[in-house]
Amino acid sequence: MKIAFIGLGHMGGPMALNLQKAGHTVAAFDLSQAACEKSAADGLTIAASAQAAVQGAEAIVTMLPASQHVEGLFLGTGGQEGLLSHIAKGALVIDSSTIASATSQKVAKAAQAAGIDFIDAPVSGGTGGAIAGTLTFMVGSSAEQLERARPLLEKMGANIFHAGSVGAGQTAKICNNMLLGILMAGTSEAIALGVANGLDPKVLSEIMRRSSGGNWALEKYNPCPGVQENVPASKGYAGGFGTDLMLKDLGLSQENATQVKASTPLGGLARNLYAAHSLAGNGALDFSSIIKMVQKG
Ligand code: NAD
Repeated sequence: MKIAFIGLGHMGGPMALNLQKAGHTVAAFDLSQAACEKSAADGLTIAASAQAAVQGAEAIVTMLPASQHVEGLFLGTGGQEGLLSHIAKGALVIDSSTIASATSQKVAKAAQAAGIDFIDAPVSGGTGGAIAGTLTFMVGSSAEQLERARPLLEKMGANIFHAGSVGAGQTAKICNNMLLGILMAGTSEAIALGVANGLDPKVLSEIMRRSSGGNWALEKYNPCPGVQENVPASKGYAGGFGTDLMLKDLGLSQENATQVKASTPLGGLARNLYAAHSLAGNGALDFSSIIKMVQKG
């Protein structure tokens, strides 16, 4: 299949590569020269623009930072024409960015009017999952659209969930990430408390991992440097999932909570913690660097 892949950051680069490895012809594009150069070095073909990438594409996958990037790209911004007018009728657009559910619905409506299928399929699993092709997809679409997308999603992920109609994938994603933000902050606090009492963070992490405090951060993404290899904490918090992206997701969860009058006190507190951490200059570091807020020294 001829596929356009737009957004070659920490997640999009490896996801595009997995589609190419599966035998698809991928035309890739990113606004960042550095991201294009990295993907080209990995073997991807870089198109001159997003418009050039979608020429003749049967499917388009996007992996962009936030709502404004997705809306701006597809519907146009600042008098610039949107990408929807360059995409062939009948094509399938899979947006895997984490954005507001309302934005997914708005773009899907405009796509439908142009004869294009647009589905939201945000992911969980981190950069490790993107590289290994083991991501979890949370899909918002019709049942028919999901079956159309499934063969491509299977090349990038291991778990595919149908959350509901368009926008529902995004709702599932912000619920998950609100929990992730809270549990990473809580795990950091617990490790810092143990270390302040002289405990070895490796020993403490293993005790909690196998006890009732066990969670995803302790299993796969320990926030304390040196406890696990190949996690952002052991690489100066480089790569991974940026603090500012976590802040965006917690903001989405709180906006949504306001809309539906849900009570999310810990989600609100977590948003404020990551906002303060970002204000202190840590926005570009992986979100597990939140442990710095509570670590001695
Ligand atoms: P990233 O910042 O590394 O990559 C985003 C890329 O999009 C950048 O390279 C940027 O230049 C590019 N971009 C922005 N606007 C563009 C446009 N109009 N046209 C072309 N390229 C454009 O971000 P990431 O970590 O890859 O995350 C992408 C999305 O996935 C976000 O919504 C994030 O919340 C979500 N997500 C990230 C992770 C993770 O672990 N990093 C996990 C799950 C979900």
